[in-house]
Amino acid sequence: MATLRLKSRRVLKKLDLGCRLLRFVARGLLSTHHPLLAHVIPMRRCNLSCAYCNEYDSHSDPVPVQEMYRRLDRLAEFGTSIITISGGEPLMHPQLEEIVAHVRRRGMIAGLISNGYLMTRNRIEAFNRAGLDHLQISIDNVHPDDVSMKSLKVLDQKLSTLAEYAAFHVNINSVLGSGVKNPEDALTVARRAVSLGFTCTVGVIHNDGGCLKPLNEKERQIYYEIKKLARHSYARVDYFQKNLVEGKPRNWRCRAGGRYLYICENGLVHYCSQQRGYPAIPLEKYTPEDIRREYNTQKSCTSFCTVSCVNQVSTMDFWRDPQTLRVTPRPRTIAVASSLGGLISVQHSGATGPRTGPATLHSPLWTRAKSQSVKPR
Ligand code: SF4
Ligand code: SF4
Repeated sequence: MATLRLKSRRVLKKLDLGCRLLRFVARGLLSTHHPLLAHVIPMRRCNLSCAYCNEYDSHSDPVPVQEMYRRLDRLAEFGTSIITISGGEPLMHPQLEEIVAHVRRRGMIAGLISNGYLMTRNRIEAFNRAGLDHLQISIDNVHPDDVSMKSLKVLDQKLSTLAEYAAFHVNINSVLGSGVKNPEDALTVARRAVSLGFTCTVGVIHNDGGCLKPLNEKERQIYYEIKKLARHSYARVDYFQKNLVEGKPRNWRCRAGGRYLYICENGLVHYCSQQRGYPAIPLEKYTPEDIRREYNTQKSCTSFCTVSCVNQVSTMDFWRDPQTLRVTPRPRTIAVASSLGGLISVQHSGATGPRTGPATLHSPLWTRAKSQSVKPR
């Protein structure tokens, strides 16, 4: 059981976060010049190897903390509101708490996505001190199987420890459509999350291009049951999933590269985790003009996109600024020096499984629908 002191701290933190989120919405509505959310990767390596995942390797080193500070400073200069840290498995980074503290020092909201395996009471308390705002743990099944080891039976004690010691908001996310043997496990996970006082959400798995893998009838039913449960615990912008669950395309404006930035372990800016390689510009060379260009660029992969954070962020501007530029991603191979020295090792967006590839980078050939400059807004 959490102590009275911790419960009071949670209430204060919730109020503080609520105020900062209001500021975030107000700034986002007033100006389209800054990123709303940036996703940073301090650690590509993961301690697990989920069968559906294309976002990890088994060998890479943590990004040095000073380099992470430089990237966060650059994102703060752009006026970024929220930083989400993920991986790989970010808890494998030995100085993750310092990175979180730096996000908060620079006035940004700090979120973390983890598989939870390495969470301990000491680390939870360190994250409390660092000012972590939000943690999301994804759990795919009740018992480990050959698809996923992100299992309730393995993680339940970690969840209890979080319920006892965490001052930050905890959300448990389960995934449907990943080929996990028992899709009804997602409902068991959601119920356990709510019983511990956490919020719960359900995600729809994407393929290697960020697009939909159709849900079967049983998965769809479970999706709607979890949504009912989640409604009582958490409000978030996820109406975009409804069409996808029904297997229908969506017409929306993806603002990746403008309002949302994905910064890989090599410090390159990409559209999202599933479109790495576009535009693949080093963060230190990314400019406000790049942000405006990408804000105005229509992507060719929107119809069945399930990358939820970009869908959510793009909602802020759904009513304005039709996109007049187009990009048709067609990878070509170029070699680029990374900010850490040496060549960058990034595979193109169609890569699957652990990354073991050579030091090459894939970058787009741009096809503009109209030849026009992008005006500041
Ligand atoms: S889904 Fe998460 S835990 Fe699983 S391999 Fe990918 S990064 Fe690791
Ligand atoms: S639509 Fe946007 S978020 Fe979705 S896969 Fe394409 S670039 Fe990524």
